[in-house]
Amino acid sequence: MPFFRYVAKALGIKKKQKKLIMEVEVVRTKITLACTECKNRNYNTTKDKKAHPDRMETKKYCRFCRTHTMHKETK
Ligand SMILES: [Zn+2]
Repeated sequence: MPFFRYVAKALGIKKKQKKLIMEVEVVRTKITLACTECKNRNYNTTKDKKAHPDRMETKKYCRFCRTHTMHKETK
């Protein structure tokens, strides 16, 4: 076994990376956040589908309204 593979195995790097990639693929979902006041789509983000199975609502700054408004998840 090459030395670097031995080290990686000893540190568990390979396993951790694989787990991380799987979590990103399975859990994180791309969403768009739209201002509820002016309906502009201001933010692209990802969310944890397990933590937020329903549509997300969050207070964020809207550059069109020039204030913080509620932003809703759209598709
Ligand atoms: Zn707005």
